[in-house]
Amino acid sequence: MVLNRVSSLKENESPLELMDIPIPEPHSGEIRLKVSACGVCHTELDEIEGRITDSRLPVVPGHQVVGKVEKLGEGTSRFKIGDRVGVAWIFAACGKCAYCLEGNENLCAEFKATGKDENGGYAEYLTVSEKYAHAIPDFFSDVEAAPLLCAGAIGFRSLKLANINDGDALGLTGFGASAHLVLKAVKHQYPGTRVFVFARNPRERKFAIHLGAYWSGDTTDTSPQKLDAIIDTTPVWKPVVEALRNLKKGGRLIINAIRKEEVDKAYLQKLSYQDHLWLEKELKTVANVTRSDVSGFLELAAKAKIRPEVQTYPLEQANQALLELKTQKIRGAKVLIM
Ligand SMILES: [Zn+2]
Ligand SMILES: [Zn+2]
Repeated sequence: MVLNRVSSLKENESPLELMDIPIPEPHSGEIRLKVSACGVCHTELDEIEGRITDSRLPVVPGHQVVGKVEKLGEGTSRFKIGDRVGVAWIFAACGKCAYCLEGNENLCAEFKATGKDENGGYAEYLTVSEKYAHAIPDFFSDVEAAPLLCAGAIGFRSLKLANINDGDALGLTGFGASAHLVLKAVKHQYPGTRVFVFARNPRERKFAIHLGAYWSGDTTDTSPQKLDAIIDTTPVWKPVVEALRNLKKGGRLIINAIRKEEVDKAYLQKLSYQDHLWLEKELKTVANVTRSDVSGFLELAAKAKIRPEVQTYPLEQANQALLELKTQKIRGAKVLIM
């Protein structure tokens, strides 16, 4: 499924085109996967609708890719034919700059993203450097493993940046693929922590309680207690302002979004220094993932037996899956199967 040009999903409900393209050959150091599953991420909507402007076009989107190693390029040694591996948003980084050397390869100026700068997993085949492929623990099916690679890995990074201790109160505003995995991870890593979920959709709120949230309410509701940290996974501004209001003194808001939409930007006018920012509140954003976020989360998820809730679509129905993601028909994570 190929993205040829940028357009609004409102005007063009089928932005991806089903095409036959040549099977990619693995270069030196690369492996070729026969793809079996690929997760659908909100970032694909940002690419399609042109909020990420430097994408190469045409491109095959998709950065939560699971498949079997099918061909080895020259000089590869990490995997053998038939191994099951995953590819995440991080397709490559330089490995030499200060950011790379200090473990923040997600901030590398030469960061390349799967399905944006190089062809991704909405396809039958994909090639990637073996250094950027991840072994998939046996515990997961292909379909279950896919959403762990972005929704899970970036949720894991957000949780690290939230910097909470066991027993702290954590908020999640927005309750899609990433937040529901964060909730499951928190139950394991911070068993004494209460999770408060803010979501505009009553079905998502119910789902959150079903998965073990302590409380759930609407985006604009006031949580029954002030929160140590809140992770925002929404594409808009209202939840940012409302979350800052619900933070404790010294609390931290983590925004996990590659881009914010413009639709409700006027809501920022409600931002009051006194109510939303003062008393040493912090705001931090999450950008990309490192390989250790991905492998770390895969390891944690297998240990904690975190199985994502998934909804599957055949590859040909990628446009349908994206449309449903856009219109918030969310329950867990969407995954394409080949
Ligand atoms: Zn993603
Ligand atoms: Zn670098």
